[in-house]
Amino acid sequence: MPHKDIIHLDMDAFYPAVEVLDDPSLEGKPVIVGGQGDRGVVSSASYEARKFGVHSAQPIITARRLCPDGIFLPVRMARYVEISKKVFEVFCRFTPLVEPLSIDEAFLDVTGSRRLFGSPQEIAKKIKKLVKGEIGLTVSAGIAPSKLVAKIASDLEKPDGLTVVPHGKVREFLDPLPIEKLWGVGKVTRKDLELLGVRTIGDLSRLPRELLKSKFGKHGLHLYTMAGDMDERDVETRREVKSIGHEVTYAKDIVDLETVKKKLLALATQVARRMRRKGEVQRFCADNQVHNPA
Ligand SMILES: [Mg+2]
Repeated sequence: MPHKDIIHLDMDAFYPAVEVLDDPSLEGKPVIVGGQGDRGVVSSASYEARKFGVHSAQPIITARRLCPDGIFLPVRMARYVEISKKVFEVFCRFTPLVEPLSIDEAFLDVTGSRRLFGSPQEIAKKIKKLVKGEIGLTVSAGIAPSKLVAKIASDLEKPDGLTVVPHGKVREFLDPLPIEKLWGVGKVTRKDLELLGVRTIGDLSRLPRELLKSKFGKHGLHLYTMAGDMDERDVETRREVKSIGHEVTYAKDIVDLETVKKKLLALATQVARRMRRKGEVQRFCADNQVHNPA
């Protein structure tokens, strides 16, 4: 079977980049987008802010300590969605096989686009140019024969990167990389693997399948597939929504049970609203009826 050409595209520091786009006086400054108040968390930080050690999911209060001169801005989701639509519209000019991973990230299968638009590398260059020219933002691209490798590649030369991993060079590319570059290897798995003497993806690829399976169960089999470059997942244009949630960080801890119940109801209402918006509510109701026939 001929190999696939996958491009992973990932906007560079998307939320802060949109803020700079809308207010060019912020250019080159440490911009931190996130929840307001002392209990908020960082959603995204500009590269200038990252130099101070600021990163997403960090408490705002820590970010303020690390980067006292940072420009702290609230999340303007409606605006980011608006820009995201424009970005995806550019992606869709080159292939109908676009899989969104989040508001600012997507896989494109351009295997069939060569005759119309050129090599995957040429396509990625065109997309980068269009996103910059029409929208004013930079996007990093990774090109590889699989989703896993394309995603790792797009991250390597950020911002404004373009990394190509040709078919036949995948092993060479993966082997020296640290294991945490793999999807699903967090702190805990990394420590467990290090105890087995595994530091790089190459080390991991040499472990027997049975060992990984007995140590890590299903997750171990996933690791075996990923490290062994056996990721054959297709770019999925329709994704099944697996979970819908809503979260809020309160300014102060809530300890009173009645208040907790009220807050919980409010959160559940938000989740229900999201589900209705996504048209998931019917399926949910149908499932409920199966389990609770009464
Ligand atoms: Mg991004």
